[in-house]
Amino acid sequence: MNSSLLCKWLWRWLNFPSLQWCKVIRERYFGEDGGSQRLLTVSSRMSRIWVGILEGKMEFMEAIRWELGAGDNIDFWKDTWLGDSSLAVRFPSIHRIALISGGVASEFWSRQGDNGYWEVLVRRNLNDSEMEDYLGLLELLQGVLVVPTGRDRVVWKPAPTDGFCVMSCYEWLSRSRLGAPQVARKHKEIWGCHVPLKVKTFMWLVYHERILTKAYLAKWSTNINLACGLCGETEETVEHLFLLCPIAKEAWRWLCLATGMDGNFASLEELWRSGRRLRVVGDRSVATKVSQSYIPAVLWSIWLTRNLVVFRGCYPYVENICEGAVRFIVEWGCSCAGAGGVVMRGGRFCVLG
Ligand SMILES: [Zn+2]
Repeated sequence: MNSSLLCKWLWRWLNFPSLQWCKVIRERYFGEDGGSQRLLTVSSRMSRIWVGILEGKMEFMEAIRWELGAGDNIDFWKDTWLGDSSLAVRFPSIHRIALISGGVASEFWSRQGDNGYWEVLVRRNLNDSEMEDYLGLLELLQGVLVVPTGRDRVVWKPAPTDGFCVMSCYEWLSRSRLGAPQVARKHKEIWGCHVPLKVKTFMWLVYHERILTKAYLAKWSTNINLACGLCGETEETVEHLFLLCPIAKEAWRWLCLATGMDGNFASLEELWRSGRRLRVVGDRSVATKVSQSYIPAVLWSIWLTRNLVVFRGCYPYVENICEGAVRFIVEWGCSCAGAGGVVMRGGRFCVLG
């Protein structure tokens, strides 16, 4: 409860900068930077009370997201302001080589009259996979405008419409202290995985059950035939399509036979963990990337096959799913491995030197 009360101070600090105590603190500790609402770092000059409040900053920042106004208070890379996680988490490869790796959003905005554009400069030429990430970042930024006269707004994620209250904060902290490590690990696993950005985004949508399955679409439209795109029998949920569908199951069975992996998964979580066990022969660093791409490759191939059936009327051949997945792993593996390439030989993926 004590932490929730301290968070209340942070919330008021960010939301009501004109309060008298905020002004006093700004003047005393932040001097030149006094105009900003940002939660600045602890310094030795600060009073014990304020240091205590700032210690809860990391947890607090997880529970808020920003709505962009002028962009003077939002950390471009580290705050959550576009989607569910920060840009540094989603585009680590670009963040690492960005010319500005710690500035506020308005520093990345080039104004042109009433309008403007985003400019994210990098320190060196991009390789193919970085280029893909870079274009993904620009795509995400497209259509998002800085409003120079607007105020950056803080939204309390656990209760976006009601806003912050101590009770809601207490519940959130209790929940997050139990579940945070898993969620953070999952984020890292998905966005840090060595697959193309479009597949990472796809994996993220699958994990959050937001991929456009028929069950998902039916939330918005009453006119949806719910039958699974592959088997045509059961309702097409994420769990059915990727795990329980007879056609997907047959594909998993075939791939398990071919690779010697265990094929019994009770949940997507188990499935995800099992992917790490795929044994790949050859150079360690490339082999790790190849084994990381195994589960995304199969899920991606199931999804592409399902789309061909739903939108083009193709027949859902199990072979197509399996071949698609193996082809993805080999081709993607080759782009990581360079000249040697990756092949499937006797049921093993091998990185050639
Ligand atoms: Zn099905």
